[in-house]
Amino acid sequence: MKTLLPMKDVQFLVLHCSATRVGQKVTVKDIDRWHRARGWSGGCGYHWVVLQDGTIQAGRPEALAGSHVRHYNQHTIGICYVGGINEKGQYADTRTPAQKAALHFLLKDLKESYPKAKICGHRDFPNVRKLCPCFDAAKEYADLNALSPE
Ligand SMILES: [Zn+2]
Repeated sequence: MKTLLPMKDVQFLVLHCSATRVGQKVTVKDIDRWHRARGWSGGCGYHWVVLQDGTIQAGRPEALAGSHVRHYNQHTIGICYVGGINEKGQYADTRTPAQKAALHFLLKDLKESYPKAKICGHRDFPNVRKLCPCFDAAKEYADLNALSPE
């Protein structure tokens, strides 16, 4: 059983996908169950989960480190959209228009809480061999990243 660590200074807002098939109904409850089954005492490793209909669900409290980017959990907020695998079983950007709108809203809000934090994707970290979140987050949210102070 791992002890939950407190969050330290937040440097990155990290986008993830749940790596589930588009159309598969997944909520924060499911993710919480999967992550507890892995032995993560804090349950859902992400701080926020965005469902396909655009519903934003709270996962782990932001005051606690998540479990979503190895070595960076005390310096990152984890945001996961449900999806990431298309009808053919391939990794793909499956975000619905509602999810895109909700993600932008959520990230804008998080940027106000953590002005210095940069938005990026899971795959942008060193030694990550996943495609997660299946789109270029830093590029897509360049407008929000531009709000960071120098
Ligand atoms: Zn990820």
